Amino acid sequence: MDDKLKAAATARLAQLRNDYLARLPAELTALQTLGAGLSGGEPDRASLDELHHRLHKLAGSGGTFGLAALSAGAHTLEQRVKGWLADSLDELGDAQVRQAFSADLAALGATMSGVDVPLVSVTQAGDARAAPGESIRVWLVEDDILLGEELARQLGSFNYVVRRFTRIDDAERAARTECPDMLLMDVMFEQEGENATEVFALHPNLRALGCPLLFVTSYDDFMSRVRAAQLGALGYFLKPLDIPRLVSRMSQIFEQKRAPSQRVLIVDDDRDLAEHYRLALLAAGMEADVLEQPAAIMEKIAAFRPELVLMDMHMPGFSGPDLAGVIRQHDNWSSLPIVYLSAETDLDLQIKAMGRGADDFLTKPISDAQLVAAVRVRVERARQLEAQISRDSLTGLLKHASIKESAGTEVTRARRSGKPVSLAMLDIDHFKSVNDTYGHAVGDVVISSVAMLLRQRLRQSDIVGRYGGEEFVAVLPECDAGYAHELMEDIRQRFASLRFSHEGKDFGCTLSVGLACSLAYPDSDGAALLVAADEALYVAKRGGRNQVREASPS
Ligand code: GH3
Ligand code: MG
Ligand code: MG
Repeated sequence: MDDKLKAAATARLAQLRNDYLARLPAELTALQTLGAGLSGGEPDRASLDELHHRLHKLAGSGGTFGLAALSAGAHTLEQRVKGWLADSLDELGDAQVRQAFSADLAALGATMSGVDVPLVSVTQAGDARAAPGESIRVWLVEDDILLGEELARQLGSFNYVVRRFTRIDDAERAARTECPDMLLMDVMFEQEGENATEVFALHPNLRALGCPLLFVTSYDDFMSRVRAAQLGALGYFLKPLDIPRLVSRMSQIFEQKRAPSQRVLIVDDDRDLAEHYRLALLAAGMEADVLEQPAAIMEKIAAFRPELVLMDMHMPGFSGPDLAGVIRQHDNWSSLPIVYLSAETDLDLQIKAMGRGADDFLTKPISDAQLVAAVRVRVERARQLEAQISRDSLTGLLKHASIKESAGTEVTRARRSGKPVSLAMLDIDHFKSVNDTYGHAVGDVVISSVAMLLRQRLRQSDIVGRYGGEEFVAVLPECDAGYAHELMEDIRQRFASLRFSHEGKDFGCTLSVGLACSLAYPDSDGAALLVAADEALYVAKRGGRNQVREASPS
């Protein structure tokens, strides 16, 4: 999410808090009036219920808006009213009990005096400097000129823009005013210092860059590795360099940074609080939405596709567990993480509620930082699980069934919006002979290289899958035939320029591509468009391979 949106969310959070503080005196007065109305005669259950509900709400919201003492006080009083409602209404007959309660209600206001708590700062999501599909700037500090040139050339094919430095001092000077997306460094011990720690001590601008750091080195001793780890290096690569492995690590690092923002659905009858949570999550770079109509929960989930639901426990008319139960009735959403967020502190009730379809329980009041952190780890874990199921382990791309499903979804979406979608089917040429000549493991490296190239070169909104052994499918939304052709032609050329090596032997590979655009096949669904792309691929193979062909309806 861009910084402006985050800043706007932060500003609105402050506004929301001001509004809350402005309304609070009236709320406290209403509570005191209810408290003063308690009499020793036949207790008025409706008033007690109302009192309980308001105290519960206050206990849940106060802490979020920076009023922890108010939350705690309201919680104590809420428990007392809950006790009366449950089994000891008689206690209210005692004037002293009523007076003490009224005094405590009045004291709630005092917890607010002089309050001007600054908003809890929210941790920002990791900052990916390069936008998806854009080239990534890599600084390569390498005094071996030939290795530097070859590395720069190969990284260039993967859409990295490499700036080469043969001397650390030059990079140090550049780091005064510029910053790359990644620093790839051969620590030139002989010239500069004894070890990496000293080299970085001598070059404070490089040390302060703060971008991911990888070492390329000839030193395989334990202490050199420890020093690299202490400097925060994310990779340590020995010479002679295994370039595909280095590229794979690099793309992993950027993949993590590029992960799409997490989507959270908030269900809470307290509108202010729900809006506050929404803004806090937004300010942390997530997407958040509030469910306005509980009866429309399944429609909302289908449209917003949340990765986690934050669910209030007590809402008028039904409970959080009721809604969780409804979600779990739908197979598609049976594994959607649901986390209760409630002022309910009764452990038995919490456990009972968890038994009904939820995964976890967070207790209000909760600070923004705690909420963000709790949501982030849970969505992260859910994504990892999902990836294990739907992603191919060698390439990290979607598996056959998932990419086929994505093709279907995107073609339907495109038809509805009137925008194009293009499907590309790619297949490595004469791949069998790579396996036969260099072995299966080398074949695997070639397959992963295609995957990395596709991910590196395509936009974040494009979807890529491994369709078969050495066959890939790319789904390109809002991409017409002309642009898709250009894109695939570029990928074809980049792949052809890569060099692979095995036991001193050096070889290259090519691929063929078949394309089909939805505009040329207005009546086709995803499956039919895939067939058209496959037929175009066959034409490319027949035409001599190493080429891109486009399907056209005959
Ligand atoms: P064409 O140019 O016509 O595509 O010829 P080809 O040799 O690439 O095609 P073919 O379909 O005959 O061979 C594909 C080979 O890919 C056969 C299979 O052993 C190999 N393969 C499939 N999956 C993997 C894998 O995961 N790793 C490796 N190394 N090889 C694989
Ligand atoms: Mg092939
Ligand atoms: Mg094949």
